[in-house]
Amino acid sequence: MSEPVTILGAGCTGPLLGTLLAARGHRVRIFERRPDPRGAAVPGGRSINLALAARGLAGLERAGLMEAVRPLLVPMRGRMVHELGGPTRFLPYGQRPHELLWSVPRLGLNRVLTDAAAARGVELNFEHAARGADFARGTVLVEDLRSGQRRELAMSPVFGADGSGSALREAMVAAGLGSAREVPLEHLYKELTIPARDDGRHALDPGALHIWPRGGYMLIALPNADGTFTTTLFLAAHGAPVSFATLGSDQAVRALFDTQFPDVVPLIPDLVAQFAQNPTGRMSTVYAAPWHVAGKALLVGDAAHAIVPFHGQGMNCAFEDCRVLDDLLAERLPWQQVFARFDALRREDTAAIARMAVENYTEMRDTVRDPLFALQKELSLELERRLPDRFIPRYSMVMFHDEIAYAEAERRGAVQSVLLEEATRGRRALADVDLPALERAVIERLEPVSSPAVRA
Ligand SMILES: Cc1cc2nc3c(=O)[nH]c(=O)nc-3n(C[C@H](O)[C@H](O)[C@H](O)COP(=O)(O)OP(=O)(O)OC[C@H]3O[C@@H](n4cnc5c(N)ncnc54)[C@H](O)[C@@H]3O)c2cc1C
Repeated sequence: MSEPVTILGAGCTGPLLGTLLAARGHRVRIFERRPDPRGAAVPGGRSINLALAARGLAGLERAGLMEAVRPLLVPMRGRMVHELGGPTRFLPYGQRPHELLWSVPRLGLNRVLTDAAAARGVELNFEHAARGADFARGTVLVEDLRSGQRRELAMSPVFGADGSGSALREAMVAAGLGSAREVPLEHLYKELTIPARDDGRHALDPGALHIWPRGGYMLIALPNADGTFTTTLFLAAHGAPVSFATLGSDQAVRALFDTQFPDVVPLIPDLVAQFAQNPTGRMSTVYAAPWHVAGKALLVGDAAHAIVPFHGQGMNCAFEDCRVLDDLLAERLPWQQVFARFDALRREDTAAIARMAVENYTEMRDTVRDPLFALQKELSLELERRLPDRFIPRYSMVMFHDEIAYAEAERRGAVQSVLLEEATRGRRALADVDLPALERAVIERLEPVSSPAVRA
């Protein structure tokens, strides 16, 4: 009997991929360096919750996991923008009942995914780290972190789902079988928790993703089902007037929140202590090519194409990887062909979402404050109502339309952006826009989206 398929990493991607592979009849084993999430204490301060959208939902649905995941989800219908000293403004994400994002706790999701893989008979090895690979011999080296014992496993094949710092990717580069570039963002992040109120309810509106845009930086908050919010400060690592480098003392932290986020201060009684205790996280974009070595090894998820988190798409994109791979597995092709086709199919799309994710940081921390941005958003939704098969806001294409590939969303989005700019130049309100002329321009410059889901 041949050796089982090996997956390195049991974060978001590993267990979902393992479940799908097992459902197609493969024997699968996973090696993960952390302890089993089903028994572990909650790790503080590291991306505690995530926004789940259409592409992620499609991947989970493919594995039949929505029933188990649904109780974890909190719907977010739009952005609640907290201006400094001003009223809050609600900007809806979409305009149809299903056009919302779901906040999901990383640990809870990880437990569901792990349970699902175990139920499918996937062999789970926690506290085991990949230490290297020998592609000529077709082996991968794994260490049991409790005993220190090392084992060589056959690449039959091996999937690198071991995240943005992938050991398998590093081994591929070291062997001269690929290149990889990690471009760090010059901004870092810090997570803080807004506790539930005494009556157990949320301290802010739980139906929104809250943003405090401050130009060069921002604070955001996503609701959790237990009444808490996970709040994240995104800020430059260095520089004046404010950066993580200037927040070296409790007083400096307190002063930043008192002056810039005064409505948040009463909601986090131990703000300064949390700030001191919680780790500061880094973010980067990973560009790697190729993602595979013949039919022996394939990188997936963040290991292949980590992106910055500002479009809330890293996990969604990784789950889409799993769905695309599952489509290819259905064709029962040799591994080498599956891997080559996966690489060809996903490369342009993942490059597109990497770019859009970086752009979205500027939108969230800055542009969202601009009245012209609000007008263009309003106009986008109006155009979508009038021409639903031609004009779909780019944000909606990425978040709600998994039938539109990322690269296509980026391409159509660029045309739409020019149209919106032209139509709103010097205008202040929707009533000032020449809508019939704009509709004609949309019809001229944008072909209909072919997907039937858009017309539904
Ligand atoms: C602050 C922040 C917010 C985010 N918000 C969102 C969001 O709202 N929506 C969204 O879609 N995405 C979001 N993301 C991105 C998302 O977290 C990632 O895209 C997703 O986790 C990728 O899944 P993965 O399985 O590929 O990698 P990971 O989830 O990182 O999993 C990799 C796993 O491999 C293990 N591992 C690493 N090295 C080894 C080794 N040598 N041997 C064995 N195991 C190893 C790790 O312990 C880990 O469990 C966010 C990311 C950050 C940093």
